[in-house]
Amino acid sequence: MSAMAEPEVSSLRHLPAVAAVLATDEAALLLESHGRVATTDAIRQVIDEARDALRVTPGTAPDANALAQLARGRLEARAPGLRPVFNLTGTVLHTNLGRALLADAAIEAAVAAMRHAVALEYDLASGARGERDDHLRQLLCELTGAEDATVVNNNAAAVLLCLNTFALGREAVVSRGELIEIGGAFRMPDIMARAGARMVEVGTTNRTHPADYRDALNADTGLVLKVHTSNYRIQGFTAEVDARELSVIAAAAGLPLLNDLGSGSLIDLSRFGLAREPTVRDAVVEGAQLVTFSGDKLLGGPQAGFIVGDRALIAQLNRNPLKRALRVDKLRLAAIEATLQLYRDPDRLAERLPTLRFLARGRADIEAQAHRLQPAVAARLGGAFEVVVGDCFSQMGSGALPLDTLASAALLIRPNGSQRVLEHLAASLRALTRPIIGRVADGALQLDLRCLDEAEEAALLEVLSELDADSIAAQVP
Ligand SMILES: *Cc1c(COP(=O)(O)O)cnc(C)c1O
Repeated sequence: MSAMAEPEVSSLRHLPAVAAVLATDEAALLLESHGRVATTDAIRQVIDEARDALRVTPGTAPDANALAQLARGRLEARAPGLRPVFNLTGTVLHTNLGRALLADAAIEAAVAAMRHAVALEYDLASGARGERDDHLRQLLCELTGAEDATVVNNNAAAVLLCLNTFALGREAVVSRGELIEIGGAFRMPDIMARAGARMVEVGTTNRTHPADYRDALNADTGLVLKVHTSNYRIQGFTAEVDARELSVIAAAAGLPLLNDLGSGSLIDLSRFGLAREPTVRDAVVEGAQLVTFSGDKLLGGPQAGFIVGDRALIAQLNRNPLKRALRVDKLRLAAIEATLQLYRDPDRLAERLPTLRFLARGRADIEAQAHRLQPAVAARLGGAFEVVVGDCFSQMGSGALPLDTLASAALLIRPNGSQRVLEHLAASLRALTRPIIGRVADGALQLDLRCLDEAEEAALLEVLSELDADSIAAQVP
């Protein structure tokens, strides 16, 4: 390398120093928006890279202005990673896009809890220390009919805490048909192992009978577990022991039954024209002493895991040191409380809770929106693409009602030329300042409008104006 380095020494010598780049007008703007430390770092990096490039391929050194431009690109590429996107995938509770959107009341409550001191663990009546769960306890009991309730980080944590509290070093009995895996590495056997419970599988994949459970229970058993098989169905020659019957079997052995509902709903969704998911109240009535469910699935709140049930058992959960490690912070407690409050007025829930609002939207309403947006979207996509309104199917997501799809409408974008342009278009939409996430299906980029509120339409069209659709099409011969 040293022999090669000789010829370009002069162009290397012309490479501006950090101070020279910092003195440009462009750098002054960068200093203003990104600060001294980040700007200087970026400039140093682009100078280092220019030096390395000149060593490999001799040529003219970039001047200070060019380097400042490069530094700008670097600084702007570091835009915050967690930024708003348009979820036009048709999956309402999209785990990778953050599941439920919060209701305004929940957002306001979280903001207030961020800005002000709150009586988190402080009893205002007595002026003494309070319990952070007390804010939610009463509401959860009222909405589910349970005796007591507690809340942790998410439903995975809720299941972990229950298993660890009641089956540490002991056996936890579960049907082979219910050993689920949920996206994002939640696998029931692994959670059981990490909770310190010995998993005892009973029955078979398709059929489990009461006697299978009875035969498995012994002095070493700590807990009987029932898992709602949320994200799949076993059909055909099947048998399962329902929670009512299982709770009798567990009670006869003096053991608690934990029913993990996953996406438990607090109300009967059939009143919104949706298929019926078991409600938490149903599960409590059926006799499980412990019922666990998620905060950010059908419930439509922030990420959280709820455990409701028998008072003495909940008290035991709260005494487990793991509870401290799995607890929820004040922002989420505030948002959860505000979300649960909305459930006290079910008649207005679909207006106020985005998850339900999206799920309850009828196809005709979505189709009308698609027709309204079609001309403007087509204009922004230019001549290289055709934009039509078409039918599609949305999903609840997060494992809720996996086989039930919701009739919906989409803007279908098809390239007038090569099909290969489609992936380029999808990538370009993901690269917008507010990325638009659709779905490529049947030779079209499908933008399902189910989750697009009317108030967001203008923002969607504005961000689409950034697109240079003709040049996207031109990239593919
Ligand atoms: C989703 C789900 C979980 C995990 O809940 P998170 O809130 O995502 O942690 C556990 N069990 C079942 C049955 C589920 O559907």
